[in-house]
Amino acid sequence: MSDETNKRTRKPLGLKRSVDAGEVKQTFSHGRTNKVAVEVKRRRKLVKPGETPAPEAAPAPAPAPAPAPAPAPAPVAKKPAAPKETPQERVARLQREAEEERLKLAEEARKRDDKKAKEEAADEKKRQEENRKAEDEAEKQRAEDESKVAEEPVAEPEIAAGEEASPAPAARKFTPVARPEPKRPEKKKKDDKRTEKPSSGKDKRRSGKLTVTRALNEDEGRRARSLAALKRAREKERRMQGGGSSKPREKQIRDVIVPEAITVGELAKRMGEKGADLVKELFNLDMMVTVNQTIDQDTAELLVEQFGHNIEKVSEADVDIDTSEDQDPEETLKPRPPVVTIMGHVDHGKTSLLDALRGTDVTKGEAGGITQHIGSYQITTKDKSKITFLDTPGHAAFSEMRARGANVTDIVVLVVAADDGIMPQTIEAINHTKAAGVPMIVAINKMDKPEANPDNIRNRLLEHEVIVESMSGDVQDVEISAKEKTGLDELLEKISLQAELLELKARPDRDAEATVIEAQLDKGRGPVATVLITRGTLKRGDTFVVGTESGRVRAIVNDQGKQIKEAGPSMPVEVLGLGGVPSAGDQLSVVENEQRAREVAQYRQEKATEKRTALAPTNFDTMFNNLASNVIEWPVLVKADVQGSVEAIVNALHNLSNDDIKVRVLHAGVGAITESDVTLAGASSAPIIGFNVRPNAKARELVKRDNVRMMYYDVIYHLTEEVAKEMAGELGPERIETVVGRAQVKEVFKSGKKDKAAGLLVEDGVIRKGLFARLTREDVIVSATTIASLRRFKDDVDEVRSGLECGVVLEDTNDIQPGDQLEVFEVEERERTIEVS
Ligand code: GDP
Ligand code: MG
Repeated sequence: MSDETNKRTRKPLGLKRSVDAGEVKQTFSHGRTNKVAVEVKRRRKLVKPGETPAPEAAPAPAPAPAPAPAPAPAPVAKKPAAPKETPQERVARLQREAEEERLKLAEEARKRDDKKAKEEAADEKKRQEENRKAEDEAEKQRAEDESKVAEEPVAEPEIAAGEEASPAPAARKFTPVARPEPKRPEKKKKDDKRTEKPSSGKDKRRSGKLTVTRALNEDEGRRARSLAALKRAREKERRMQGGGSSKPREKQIRDVIVPEAITVGELAKRMGEKGADLVKELFNLDMMVTVNQTIDQDTAELLVEQFGHNIEKVSEADVDIDTSEDQDPEETLKPRPPVVTIMGHVDHGKTSLLDALRGTDVTKGEAGGITQHIGSYQITTKDKSKITFLDTPGHAAFSEMRARGANVTDIVVLVVAADDGIMPQTIEAINHTKAAGVPMIVAINKMDKPEANPDNIRNRLLEHEVIVESMSGDVQDVEISAKEKTGLDELLEKISLQAELLELKARPDRDAEATVIEAQLDKGRGPVATVLITRGTLKRGDTFVVGTESGRVRAIVNDQGKQIKEAGPSMPVEVLGLGGVPSAGDQLSVVENEQRAREVAQYRQEKATEKRTALAPTNFDTMFNNLASNVIEWPVLVKADVQGSVEAIVNALHNLSNDDIKVRVLHAGVGAITESDVTLAGASSAPIIGFNVRPNAKARELVKRDNVRMMYYDVIYHLTEEVAKEMAGELGPERIETVVGRAQVKEVFKSGKKDKAAGLLVEDGVIRKGLFARLTREDVIVSATTIASLRRFKDDVDEVRSGLECGVVLEDTNDIQPGDQLEVFEVEERERTIEVS
């Protein structure tokens, strides 16, 4: 491998690498102090044999940072030591061996699980191999002119042979794409082992000339340079002392992918270190955290570097799967069946139609007697084309899914009972469909009834801008009877025709993506999700992430309750093997391995928690928001008992709008507050005004679940008065700022364990403790904060006047740089009012 690669994979400290194992073990069992002692011992050994000139012994690793451990010298000693062992050497060797033995036992006890044991075995090999290499290198070097000891050129090929083929580091880079990434660390680790084995055998053993001293010395030299930061300094030092030991020790350094926040445990896993060691290290940094706690990227970086690994920072956006980024090339797309949702007013025959259509499935033989297994199904029509029907409970669910970006429906079939006409939910369904931009087919149902009047329906639809073909519009319509099963073929034909127009396509031969239609916890089977495959093919055994859950496909069950091995685009299937119950609308994405799945799931969980715990905007936020965007919208839904009230309320609300805040009526209508209303309100964080109406039972549940605010009134004046107050509250009190002082940051120093303090020169006015402050850097506001503490010399003071110097700690920010400007101001708050006309 390239020099680059090898350097990066060199690892100064690793539990699992036996080259370092002695060292590491020691760290664990005895702590760092002890480790240092060992180093000293070794050095002494080096000096004693004295068969090599002083320079060799010289490159003391002292400057190596504490966390960079000394490599275990023992293995090196074993073989080369045998030929000409002096008494001292013998003692040293025995000591080492005993120590190693002890450490080994300790380690074995510690690492019981299989996987680790295996790794150890691999490491053992690696160690031997490295020893051999060390010998070789030393030998070579001796032969070489000192000035030519350019370490990399010599070292690399051998490292490459022995250490790890490591094709990955560069490639391992994080990709936000959900698709095949052959480069997650876990996988790679295995690869490493694989590549190591064969190479270890090939290593040459012409090391007879090498002495213990040399080998050890070699080791020392390498270790000293194991940290990239110290490499050059070490090299220089060594050269100055004429030391021949030049090879940097090849160590497996991991490229550790670190998101903006990560738990200590997960970081340890990625680093291949023990969580407890990270905790210990954090403790040394004055951070009391547990393995389960989350640390930020900067802290993680510190740890990663302390342990000698490479950090690969990924931004938040990189962690999550962005499926929209990942477009399938046109030529890979294949036609897929349309996904149809049936909507309409209650009792107009949606369920009956779904049942009737299911009966038309040619693959199922005669109609009837087919048990519905999952809420959605796919039928094969007479012309062998397939259609997927989603049995979603009404347009509320449809919009809820849509609100979550899950626009899975290709075509809506609007069911209208010919004997009933256009009803409120019919209108809602029309609006939801239009909002989604999905084509609609009108199914005029209950044509078997004598009072059926389809033309009346067509006419009434005009009022809602649904113009059917017979009225020279472009909306297909069809008269059916779900009961008598008439018109169904025609409906299916029209669906197929519409689907053809849509040219629905998806790539089948890729990792699957799917949308959760519904999910529940099944007593026997655990969490089960009904999903609709949107692209790719879902296979048994696939690892996936869905919403905030990860999982592995244990079984795929089709709409007839049969287990199948895989499911392609537009198929609705049940998936077993989830870690938890996802929500309808969640996206399922197959990912390349469990680590990735965990990572994404964890990231999303954190996000979700963040969202839940996010505090209401502070006054400051409000202030800046107000400055940034001129007009605030106050969204609201209005439901009232009669149309007259609806109009009156909407008018009154609009009158409350002013230049700062505008009422935005998302939806207004007559009748009880429905699920649909609540969903819409929830999605828009809007309250619902109920004027002489209340939510129905289903809506009440949703209100609770989504925490939608309800405002009930029976007098319009009360309503406007309260909304006015509410809106004024939304605006926040009026804030009047008065700048009282300005200062320049002269220097920045540490204050306490975490904080930074700024040394200021007050240039103007006065600085007072507790005041609001704005820190600007080149006229850009860096932070808006308050003066947390103010000091003059060693004393806390309340106020510092112009011309004097002082030290301040700013609340909640450490982003301070010399040269920054601090503006300190008082704020007067005045309650705002909105006129009710
Ligand atoms: P949904 O609430 O929209 O799902 O409506 P259902 O499918 O539950 O149907 C409501 C009622 O209308 C049931 O009693 C059905 O038997 C009846 N129904 C549905 N379709 C037809 C039809 O085509 N003709 C007649 N006469 N009745 C129907
Ligand atoms: Mg129904």
